[in-house]
Amino acid sequence: MQVKVFLNEDEFPKQWYNLAADLPSPMLPPLGPDGNPITPDMLAPVFPMNLIEQELSQERWIDIPEEIKALLYRWRPTPLHRAIHLEKALGTPAKIYYKNESVSPPGSHKPNTAVAQAWYNKQFGIEKLTTETGAGQWGSALAFACALVGLECKVFMVRISFDQKPFRKAMMQAWGATCIASPSNQTQAGQDILKRIPDTPGSLGIAISEAVEAAVSDKTGKTRYALGSVLNHVMLHQTIIGLEAKKQLKKIGEKKVDVIIGCAGGGSNFAGLAFPFVADKISGKDITIIPVEPTSCPTMTRAPFAYDHGDTAKMTPLLPMHSLGHNFIPPPIHAGGLRYHGMAPLVSQAIVEGLLTPQALHQTECYAAALLFAKTEGIICAPETSHAIAATIQEAQKAKEEGKKKVILFNLSGHGLMDLTGYDNYLAGKLIDYPLPEEDLQKSLESIKDLPQAPANKTGKW
Ligand SMILES: *Cc1c(COP(=O)(O)O)cnc(C)c1O
Repeated sequence: MQVKVFLNEDEFPKQWYNLAADLPSPMLPPLGPDGNPITPDMLAPVFPMNLIEQELSQERWIDIPEEIKALLYRWRPTPLHRAIHLEKALGTPAKIYYKNESVSPPGSHKPNTAVAQAWYNKQFGIEKLTTETGAGQWGSALAFACALVGLECKVFMVRISFDQKPFRKAMMQAWGATCIASPSNQTQAGQDILKRIPDTPGSLGIAISEAVEAAVSDKTGKTRYALGSVLNHVMLHQTIIGLEAKKQLKKIGEKKVDVIIGCAGGGSNFAGLAFPFVADKISGKDITIIPVEPTSCPTMTRAPFAYDHGDTAKMTPLLPMHSLGHNFIPPPIHAGGLRYHGMAPLVSQAIVEGLLTPQALHQTECYAAALLFAKTEGIICAPETSHAIAATIQEAQKAKEEGKKKVILFNLSGHGLMDLTGYDNYLAGKLIDYPLPEEDLQKSLESIKDLPQAPANKTGKW
């Protein structure tokens, strides 16, 4: 029996897919500080113009430059696996497939956009990229990409992760990047925080502020900032996952997929797999598409669709998205990549339209699913990915109860070999669930009360 499907380089997608072109109700624009839609030149100090054009593009298909393909061929196309051992353990009639994004050198889907962003910056004449990283996955992906295209890279890593996760830092350094703990003394934003709270553990919000400041304050004009999720161009770059998966399903003889599943932090690995299938759903196909988040950070399942900033320091434009509020402080769950307060505007608009069925799961249930997956399929997944696996198991069990031979496809967004502390704690019985209390949610939402309203436009078809 065939359990893996590979593609050759010449079967790799020639274009990225842009869902913005097909959403039945158009996206709301990002807003500037004055409440008016932002213009491309307002973003120019932060991003190169070629990426700003992609960010604002309404084109359905965007050509992938040959040189970016050559970068991606170092590990792509990635395999599609059939999880027959998991199916057997569950005794389900469902067929479970997963796209294995853990095979990239840094170990996740993030390099798909990192190499594209690095290449476009290089094309534009940029010499150095700055970014922030929480758990270290994005920082290591960008460090890897900058090494391949020949850019300097500076990563502001949240202090507490910097101290607790020395190996991600070592990966960044091996690829030639500089990784410093945030808050640092190198930016005004960092100095201000350190003066107020000298022993702060740091936060993603502070690290974003430092990375943006470091980019825009470089007087040579040759430094820009890179973001690993949330933005439209990041979703775009990730769609090669779903486009490859479609070809692979066809190769293995599947005519129809019933359920698509991905974990969602900022939304990029989910969008990458799901958006080409969302297009099918828009044109009439019957598919259930499930983004999964932790109950401790319930952006899609409990937060309103609203205009909010992407960062705590309010340096970014206002984005139309599901948001827990930019001051949201997530509980210390191990899936660091799922602790963001917002959700990609493209994913959010698809939720508003009713095209997606978001779900929230407790972390202990997710770790239990990850262990079953490790013992059957063999891969120790990232804590983030465990959310997609737990939802997949639920769907497979539902198919068993209904006696239906459903086809389920999920995204294995990364491996967990750099995140074994979470497994260690789970196995020692030390992990607890943190469903977000309603009063904490309401308190956090106060930070967006006075921002412009975002109308939830939808056709009502789904
Ligand atoms: C960063 C990360 C995520 C969450 O980010 P998205 O943009 O929502 O994909 C999920 N899985 C892994 C392995 C990650 O590194």
